[in-house]
Amino acid sequence: MLGEMKLQVKLMDRMGTDLTVVNAARVSSAKESEWEAIPEGGEIEGLLSLADEKLIKYLAKHNHWSPFGHASMQFHIKAPIFVARQLVKHQVGLVWNEVSRRYVDDEPEFFIPDQWRSRPENSKQGSGEEIIIYNIESTMQFVKQTYQNLLKANVAPEMARMVLPQNMYTEWYWSGSLMAFARVCNLRCKDDTQAETQHIADCIDWYLHEKFPVSWEALRDFE
Ligand SMILES: Cc1cc2nc3c(=O)[nH]c(=O)nc-3n(C[C@H](O)[C@H](O)[C@H](O)COP(=O)(O)OP(=O)(O)OC[C@H]3O[C@@H](n4cnc5c(N)ncnc54)[C@H](O)[C@@H]3O)c2cc1C
Repeated sequence: MLGEMKLQVKLMDRMGTDLTVVNAARVSSAKESEWEAIPEGGEIEGLLSLADEKLIKYLAKHNHWSPFGHASMQFHIKAPIFVARQLVKHQVGLVWNEVSRRYVDDEPEFFIPDQWRSRPENSKQGSGEEIIIYNIESTMQFVKQTYQNLLKANVAPEMARMVLPQNMYTEWYWSGSLMAFARVCNLRCKDDTQAETQHIADCIDWYLHEKFPVSWEALRDFE
């Protein structure tokens, strides 16, 4: 459905656990919790007590968001520009650093779907059910050639890039708090999100669920 799947989300770094969230909240009454149990092996560092699980649910339900701002994740993402353009709109609690084609003039890579979705019948945004086959390989070849011709003619990369289309891959580091990524996933894991963008959000969702199971369950809007 999404064509040649070069869209990638790599987890680069992570700070904190569910216990970080609990203790950021418990400090207000000068208390500190510890793990109830430490499971052997696996990805989860520890299991919270029932009281700490309840605290996390309470915080999320009543929008006490700041304890969820102390834990964070860093991703390295590769996706086409039209996907990046949608995701970069999420700003609060997130930091973004992206490759620049002012400095890089490598051969561009393009996202080429192997089938196209039709225009939807009953809505202005999104896609319809019909599948359309349309080959753009030769168009992409022409674009690539024009870009390279401009560089050969000694045009500056910052200008030559003007001919590159929205389906060109870009990559960026994206760091943010648990709270910020919950806002991203609550909006972008939904079906009204473009499929290619939803794919990136679903990968982020998967990592967050794995690393912060209790907090993530409490913050995510699964409706
Ligand atoms: C399905 C869909 C379609 C969209 N279509 C379009 C479109 O056509 N055009 C377009 O430009 N964007 C569009 N967007 C982007 C959308 O308008 C938001 O910019 C984007 O979803 C980021 O939202 P956010 O709440 O994560 O923003 P952030 O900027 O990360 O803000 C986080 C939260 O902080 C608060 N906040 C941030 N800034 C302010 C402020 N200035 N004043 C008060 N409170 C603030 C808000 O509560 C906000 O929810 C679309 C998004 C979706 C999900």
